[in-house]
Amino acid sequence: MTLPVLSPSARGFRAIPLAARELRRQPIVPVLGRPPRVHLWHIGCQMNNADRESLAEQFAEIGCVPEVPLEDADLAVLITCTVRANAEQKVYGKFRELIPWKRERHGRSIALTGCMAVEHGEALLDRLPELDYVFDVREPDGFLAKLQGLHGAALDGPLALPASDRLSAFVPVMGGCNEMCTYCIVPFVRGRELSRPMPDVVAHVARLVEHGVRDVTLLGQNVNSYRDPSGGGRLPELLHAVDAVPGLWRLRFLTSHPRNAVPELFTAMRELPTVCEQLHLPVQAGHDALLRRMRRLYTVDEYREKIRDAVETVQPRLALSTDIIVGFCGESESEFAATEALMREVRFDTVHLAAYSVRPGTAAARRADDVPLSEKKRRLNHLLALQRQVAAERNGAYVGSEIEILVEGTAEDGRPYGRTRENKVAWLPAATASPGTLARARVLSATAWQLHAEPLAAA
Ligand code: SAM
Ligand code: SF4
Repeated sequence: MTLPVLSPSARGFRAIPLAARELRRQPIVPVLGRPPRVHLWHIGCQMNNADRESLAEQFAEIGCVPEVPLEDADLAVLITCTVRANAEQKVYGKFRELIPWKRERHGRSIALTGCMAVEHGEALLDRLPELDYVFDVREPDGFLAKLQGLHGAALDGPLALPASDRLSAFVPVMGGCNEMCTYCIVPFVRGRELSRPMPDVVAHVARLVEHGVRDVTLLGQNVNSYRDPSGGGRLPELLHAVDAVPGLWRLRFLTSHPRNAVPELFTAMRELPTVCEQLHLPVQAGHDALLRRMRRLYTVDEYREKIRDAVETVQPRLALSTDIIVGFCGESESEFAATEALMREVRFDTVHLAAYSVRPGTAAARRADDVPLSEKKRRLNHLLALQRQVAAERNGAYVGSEIEILVEGTAEDGRPYGRTRENKVAWLPAATASPGTLARARVLSATAWQLHAEPLAAA
């Protein structure tokens, strides 16, 4: 069974050029007499996850074998992230692991793509002598064409990817970001916002559903500034169009910017049966001066108002999640306390907490990174502990209530597990439901991270 192939250029994304579109040190793989086998590795946000899936499809399309274990591979491709320094460190760590793998057999090679490829370009080839190839994940055609040139005789047309049993998938609907938050490297490495035409997105989701996907997350760095380039429809209209795809059970979207979180979006969430009761709305900080320094372009009160509107509109319950940065330039004790107070007030289900990491080239990199690392860690751990407690209480409030679980798999002990519409992990007793089904269940107990439930009548 072949899965749909969509190159980022076919998705309508515009790329910032790498110095040269793809940079090559030497032919990637010597003639093997068989299709090259490709190992893919990624780190970072769901966009990179989606890029990995798209690359796997494109490798299969030219006749390479994607997603093989490293020991069987001829080519390893690293899909990288540069949003924080520790993500880059992990990439360099992974790269070091690949060096003995490459030396073990002549002809093995390593390619690097994703955000680090755009940020560092050719410099990576100087810095990493074992690296063979750098290419822009948004425009991999040149790289793929070179592979085809090298292995033409061994590449025997498109390969069918093995039938996938996955139930959920990420679908990029726009690339880039126009916001220019002062701390963030994303606009530099992902470029300006560009949305995919709505009919393309709908067709993509329909193809996934045909292949068994039931839960789709529409992706964009700033997904709620989506605008259909052909018709001008925004995210609420896109949700309406995708909701109408027959066979789709659940629809989500990530990541929303508070500025673009409009009432029509919340109304669509309430009205459309597939759209799940889950909103990820990154606040970053709970103090107006801090938000101004971050160039977030909303106040804490405006953020509160959005949350209130969302909670009142999407009834009976809405799971809320957010991103928060601690230790940003000049973050005082009182500014930090305001962020903590906002967390206590909103009581998010999930908070992605990160310590501020200087990203060279961003506006914030010109300010002093003056919160000491030990203090950043203290603040981070303090909020992590608070969130653990809040999450346990939020989940505890589910005890006794009904949930719907999309069963994704069965653990070794026979217990089915899956996710609720609010995206919470939920467990059922052994042998009570099969993967790929929807189960109605009553919550018996909860921890900060998961729910334990008993089945009710089949949905
Ligand atoms: N577009 C989304 C938004 O507006 O919040 C988020 C996308 S960003 C790739 C994901 C998260 O990484 C951000 O919400 C922020 O919390 C975090 N982040 C970005 N730059 C960072 C930095 N320099 N240091 C620490 N965290 C950072
Ligand atoms: Fe980065 Fe801000 Fe754009 Fe999010 S909205 S990707 S944090 S610049």
